[in-house]
Amino acid sequence: MQREQISVFDIFKIGVGPSSSHTLGPWRAAQQFIATLREKDALAEVDQIKILLYGSLAKTGVGHGTDIAILLGLYGADPVTFDVNAIDATIEEIKTYGQLSLNGEQNISFNYSEDLVFLFLESLPFHPNAVTFQAFLSTGKAISETYYSIGGGFVVKEGEQGSDKEQVDLPFPVEKASELLHWCLSTGLKVSEVVMENELAWRSEIETRKGIMQHFYVMRDCTYRGCHTSGFLPGGLNVGRRAAALNKRLIGNNTYTNYESWIEAIRHGGNSFNYILDWVSCFALAVNEENASFGRVVTAPTNGAAGVIPAVLQYYVVFCDGFSDEKITQFIACASEIGSIFKKGATISAAMGGCQAEIGVSSAMAAAALTECLGGSQRQVLMAAEIAMEHHLGLTCDPIGGLVQIPCIERNTMGAIKAITASQLALQSNPDKAKVSLDAVVNTMWETALDMNSKYKETSDGGLATNIPISLPEC
Ligand code: SF4
Repeated sequence: MQREQISVFDIFKIGVGPSSSHTLGPWRAAQQFIATLREKDALAEVDQIKILLYGSLAKTGVGHGTDIAILLGLYGADPVTFDVNAIDATIEEIKTYGQLSLNGEQNISFNYSEDLVFLFLESLPFHPNAVTFQAFLSTGKAISETYYSIGGGFVVKEGEQGSDKEQVDLPFPVEKASELLHWCLSTGLKVSEVVMENELAWRSEIETRKGIMQHFYVMRDCTYRGCHTSGFLPGGLNVGRRAAALNKRLIGNNTYTNYESWIEAIRHGGNSFNYILDWVSCFALAVNEENASFGRVVTAPTNGAAGVIPAVLQYYVVFCDGFSDEKITQFIACASEIGSIFKKGATISAAMGGCQAEIGVSSAMAAAALTECLGGSQRQVLMAAEIAMEHHLGLTCDPIGGLVQIPCIERNTMGAIKAITASQLALQSNPDKAKVSLDAVVNTMWETALDMNSKYKETSDGGLATNIPISLPEC
């Protein structure tokens, strides 16, 4: 069987909130459908488009912005570059005038309430996040394709599951943590160094380093923006943003004008336990408030959990003296390998495994990366990832109102703090005496995912989502 090959840029992707599986994935699927129409020379013949949303995409699609993402993808917008401030106006125009310009080239009539169909009671067998696009042509023919958004922004087309990515020769192929450890111990390479060697199969080292720093800049800007933006989150729950007020309180009289001087200002505040704890929470809240507001974020490895890794990385940069391109690159490369092991051995999709697959995985990634950057051995790195996930096992996904806000935003603070604790525990432990391996916890997470009731898998049919009375405005 072909092994899945996952690059650092598959695990970390620049996109738009609030959800990687419900926003970024469907956006990419819509772009792929447009590409298909172009390949078949059919774009100019399209008269009508119908979109069918199944399973979790139907149930929490509106709260997660699936409808918006799909329209933007069909419109030809790219999640990496599209101006997030133009999203509302673009969607409003499509709805108001009943016109959609496919890829900016082919104008068609589009009725939002009839052409976008939420099939709340239907699910397709391969994955709960499914979307079918149907294009009806002036020739009388129709072109239809189904896509699955399988978590973390990954998308597969029906009929091409697992076979669409070009295979390369990786010097250190890794399916499980035990294989990663084998390569590390037999070569003396750190986890991040194994990753950098493998990345050479796709591109030059310079390109990889540049790409990783670009992802860091997006994380950095998102954190900084979130720490300086107040108000309420969209969606109707009236959740107030908290990061900006917390930033203001913590920074006190220290002044700054940009990201670099902000770091210095934070450092001036000292290093008491409560002070650092508050800052880690502040960083995580900031990113996820941006995510909930359709802001630009880095999927890490999902959008709902996008705040954990930036928060721990920011903690490392500010409080552990990790502010260098080299250290940041090492952190992100190491984290990506752990995310990749969870994707191969279990899942990073909340619709498949609940929140353990999102916050749990991001916490494990951050714990491992921090441990390596703080000088831990390769065994301690894997141990940190194991500890972080062990204490997220069984975590359900039950977002209130289908919005990626409650419990999601605070949950990122928990994932970040647990990552730091897991890292410290591993650094203070002898991994030879550990009773639970990372592979065992990956396997346990997958078995737990299979046993988990579907109410707790991003459907908003159970848990907090049904126990907290809310009334959202009609969409
Ligand atoms: S509860 Fe967790 S998995 Fe579910 S949407 Fe929120 S962050 Fe994502």
